[in-house]
Amino acid sequence: MADFGLLCVHAHPDDEAVWTGGALARYADEGARTAVVTCTWAEGTVRAGELERSLAILGAGEPRLLGYADARKPESAPGRPRFLDVPLEEAIGRLVAHIRDVRPDIVLTYDGYGSYGHPDHVHAHRLTLAAAEAAGYDQLYPEAGQPWRPRAVYLATIPRSVVVSHWRAVFGDDPPAGQALPGVPDDQIGAHLDVAAWAGRKWAAMHAHESEVGRGASMTLLTSLPEPARAQLLGNEWYRRVSYTGDAEVTLG
Ligand SMILES: [Zn+2]
Repeated sequence: MADFGLLCVHAHPDDEAVWTGGALARYADEGARTAVVTCTWAEGTVRAGELERSLAILGAGEPRLLGYADARKPESAPGRPRFLDVPLEEAIGRLVAHIRDVRPDIVLTYDGYGSYGHPDHVHAHRLTLAAAEAAGYDQLYPEAGQPWRPRAVYLATIPRSVVVSHWRAVFGDDPPAGQALPGVPDDQIGAHLDVAAWAGRKWAAMHAHESEVGRGASMTLLTSLPEPARAQLLGNEWYRRVSYTGDAEVTLG
C-alpha cells in the first residue's frame, strides 16, 4: 500500500462516515494516504467541527471544505451560495485542486442517485466524475496544480437485494410497486468491501456528528434496523466502478 492514495468526495459532514467510513479506516490502517473533500458547511460551523473529529477517528487528515451551503440549510454557510447553485466551472476547478493535491489512485463518491436521492449527493456525484476526468489534463485549470489522473472512481451504493431484505425487515412486506429505492441491481456492483473489523470505528465516527445524532438524521435508518441488519450495513460497503485508465489492476478491496 506504499503511497496509495484514496480520496472521498462527499456533500455533507457525516456522509464520509456513513457511506465510506469503512474504506477510510481500513485504507488508513493499511498505510494509504486518505482524505475527504466535503462540499457543504463552512469553516467555523458546528458541523465542520464534528467533521474534524470524525476524520480524526477515521485517520483521514484535516477537513477539506468547499464551504458551500447545503440545499436546505442556508445557515450551513452564511453568505455563500448553495452548492447546487455554484457555477459548475468554479466547483470543478476547486475540486480539481484537491485531487491534484491529494493525488489519489482511487476516488470515492456517491452513485448516480446520490446513494439515496438527496440533491446535494446527486450533484456531488456529477461534480466528482467531471473533476476526476478534468484533473488529468494539463490544459485545464493550470492554476490548480500539476495534472493528476485518478485510475478509478468508485460509487457508494447498496445492492438492491440488500435494500429489499432490509425493507422487509423494517416494514414486514415487500416495497410497494413504483417505490423509488436506493441502490442498483446486484450485478452492477463492482466492489464489495468487508469492513466488519472497522465497523466500530465507523460507528464512532458517525457519532462524532453529535448534532446529526441528536436530530436522528443519518442514523434513523440504522438505529431502526434489527441488530443483524445494522451489523450487515456497517460491516459491508458496496461500490460501482468507473475506470479512467482501463487499468484493471487498481481495484478497491
Ligand atoms: Zn448527505
